Amino acid sequence: MPADNTKTSLYKFSAPQKAIRLLEGLKRTPPGAVLHHHVKHILDDNEQAHADTERAYASLLGVLLDAFAKQLPADAPLRMHVKLVAMRLMPPLSTAEFSALRRYVGIYTRQISQSDQKITNILIEALAPLLEGFDVEIPADLSAGVPDAKPTPSNVSNRIDSAYRQHLDEKRKGMQEIQGALTQQIAQAMRQNEDFCMRLEITLGRLRRAENLQALDTLRRALIGETQSLLDGNHAMGSHLEEILGHVRTIKSDILRLDEELNRVHLLSLTDELTGLPNRRAFLRRLEDEVGRVQRYGNSLALALIDLDNFKAINDRYGHAAGDEALRCFASDVLSTFRHHDMVARYGGEEFAILLPNTNHEGVIHALKKVQKYTAETHFKHGDTIQPMPTFSAGIALYASGEDPATLIERADHALYQAKQLGRNRLEFAPGPAQNSQQTSG
Ligand code: GH3
Ligand code: MG
Ligand code: MG
Repeated sequence: MPADNTKTSLYKFSAPQKAIRLLEGLKRTPPGAVLHHHVKHILDDNEQAHADTERAYASLLGVLLDAFAKQLPADAPLRMHVKLVAMRLMPPLSTAEFSALRRYVGIYTRQISQSDQKITNILIEALAPLLEGFDVEIPADLSAGVPDAKPTPSNVSNRIDSAYRQHLDEKRKGMQEIQGALTQQIAQAMRQNEDFCMRLEITLGRLRRAENLQALDTLRRALIGETQSLLDGNHAMGSHLEEILGHVRTIKSDILRLDEELNRVHLLSLTDELTGLPNRRAFLRRLEDEVGRVQRYGNSLALALIDLDNFKAINDRYGHAAGDEALRCFASDVLSTFRHHDMVARYGGEEFAILLPNTNHEGVIHALKKVQKYTAETHFKHGDTIQPMPTFSAGIALYASGEDPATLIERADHALYQAKQLGRNRLEFAPGPAQNSQQTSG
């Protein structure tokens, strides 16, 4: 349909290219041409940066999806599905592809967060190219895949998180610069506008002062033409300014959206979806902060790792949804008993970490006994039935001077293992770091 040609061809252009086409008329006047040149330059740079960012994220997600696909059986339909998504991630992405991508990423993120096995290895394998790009060396034992490897607070995910946020921050700064540059251009255009008005006034003055009729007529003809073209230019400039202002407004709302997105991503990356509790990453960050504080001020710090007993039996007997409900209920009805400055986090599948600042041996026992009591009194709903909450075992470690966060976790984990070995539904204290090795060898 020939009538639709212009419309169809405009669709082929990106938003910045469209903006530049709308500003084409600016080139008719010399100041307009300079303005056009600057705006085009800024938008070209922005478009390039945008494309680079899109490519970088698409390829990072592609690698993650690829690693995820490798974990699935060769004939699983999901595997083909994941591979198709990875193939669709070829920039430039359309708006529809972008929203599909967000949905898919949501689905697979949930799947990854629910599969608590070998996730460290999957992530390391998937993210190795990115980390290498940031000059981060992955130790050979980690990349070979240590079963049950516990991440340390300065671990891989922390680095990815900060790299991601840094990238978004840079993008936001870039947009702010564009906004600044455009505002300057507008100010300059306004000055030119004032200049035009002054010239108009001078012209009118000359007309008024003309001494004879003939001169007046010549001057009138010449100047009417000039005045008309000045006015035309002025009107054109006015409407171009409006367009530019519209563009600045779009950029401003983009920045706001990016800010919101940044906050959302940040929040999501620190929250466990099922229980709404801080996740392991958030916990490790807080642990690092608390250890730093304890090292500076010398107060006490306790760590308890709690693991629900025989939890697998709930899934096996009542199904995964019932297991999920038990976890949600344990998080909201039982673990809410801790003081607000204690940190309760979902550490893994049915394992929770509690960090208790300024708490000693008696304090932590008191708190956990209370949790044991609440657990025994709590029931979770499964369909029309009410089931008792399973018991839990806890490993507790008190921070020892000079200890690093990873060792503290290791000691609590070891004590938790002891609690399980000794029959479950009990609290076990970790010996100090020095005695720990004796006990392990004994
Ligand atoms: P133990 O007393 O030794 O801890 O036994 P357990 O059955 O609790 O421990 P095991 O490690 O054998 O199994 C943990 C189970 O928890 C298996 C896993 O599927 C389940 N699980 C982990 N995360 C979730 C989850 O988010 N939802 C549900 N429903 N189950 C989960
Ligand atoms: Mg368990
Ligand atoms: Mg467990």
